[in-house]
Amino acid sequence: MLKTIESEVSRQAAPPALQAEFAQHDFERLRTFCSLTYIVSVVIWLMFDVIVSTKGGQGFTGLSLLIVGTLIILTIPISFLRTAQQFNVLNVFFVLVISIGIRLLIEGLPEVAQAVWLTLATSSILYSASILPLSRWGFIATAAVTGVVLSPFLMTEMTIMDLRGSMVACYYVFLASLTTYCFFKLRHVKLLNYTLSKLLVEQAYVDALTEIPNRRSFMTRAGNQLGIQPRVHDHYLAMIDIDNFKKVNDQFGHDIGDEVLKRTAANIKAVMQDHEYARLGGEEFAVYVSGVRREDVEVLMDALCRQVREDPYEYSVTISIGLARVADNDTLNQSLAKADKALYVSKNSGKDRFTFHAD
Ligand code: GH3
Ligand code: MG
Ligand code: MG
Repeated sequence: MLKTIESEVSRQAAPPALQAEFAQHDFERLRTFCSLTYIVSVVIWLMFDVIVSTKGGQGFTGLSLLIVGTLIILTIPISFLRTAQQFNVLNVFFVLVISIGIRLLIEGLPEVAQAVWLTLATSSILYSASILPLSRWGFIATAAVTGVVLSPFLMTEMTIMDLRGSMVACYYVFLASLTTYCFFKLRHVKLLNYTLSKLLVEQAYVDALTEIPNRRSFMTRAGNQLGIQPRVHDHYLAMIDIDNFKKVNDQFGHDIGDEVLKRTAANIKAVMQDHEYARLGGEEFAVYVSGVRREDVEVLMDALCRQVREDPYEYSVTISIGLARVADNDTLNQSLAKADKALYVSKNSGKDRFTFHAD
């Protein structure tokens, strides 16, 4: 089943809004990893700089301090960035500065070793970029900056026509293709995973027929509301049941019954949009209203009964509601049981009304 859903999802192109949401999610999840990658890069650069300065006789200059300082300044904001787009921009600057730093370092090496080290440095940067949470343009910009600043053909004697140059050029093409492929493949798989997770969560928490939250969602969300202490005003739990629904099914068929369920759910959603509501199952719904006074709940329930009753629909129905005030130490199940008892009273006293539980 998972394979079927997976291949179906992978066939459809993810809409831009979903891609943007995924990019943000990916960046937030990997924010610490990004900081760590930058810190390790700065440490490695500094380590090589010290080696070249001492053993290579270049000397540790103010320029080294400037580069390290700039790299540190570019590392700190990662913790405070708000959007994935900002990280893409920051990354281009970081890569530009570190590439210049690497270039200057490599200039201190014997000429014969320079091409190899430039290629090694390029591969390290491109590999890191391929696993960072970058957008497509962010990766391509990073690759372009690295490719230009660390090009072994720039400011060297090597040409593409000589032996060394031809070999380096071939390796460059291989390296760029491999890292670009890895980046796009990884991004595709991560996006697919994100889309699948979203879809599965949606299916697990949304009622398929009425498209409003289901019982599982209600138990989690109302449970969270119930746990909020101290309470400014009271919390109430309402159980809602469609009156004589069996008759609707018997007289007009199951499909019309389904339509009635959808309409009732839409009415509940319209009236209770600021509260937690769900279809518990069958023709039963629940609403959790928090931080309100009893008069407010009465107004809300009255509005809901009226909206359902006066719905200009060929097969309009009525609903009965049972209400329980959620005491400080009540569990959700205890409150549901109380509301159910109150619902029973509404049903036995003429339906199309709401009743509060006796306590
Ligand atoms: P009361 O006023 O006392 O609530 O009477 P009722 O007929 O509404 O109550 P009852 O619980 O006896 O009937 C509920 C019916 O809801 C029975 C079942 O066939 C129907 N039902 C449950 N789930 C669905 C559904 O998804 N679609 C449809 N069309 N009917 C459903
Ligand atoms: Mg029922
Ligand atoms: Mg019913």
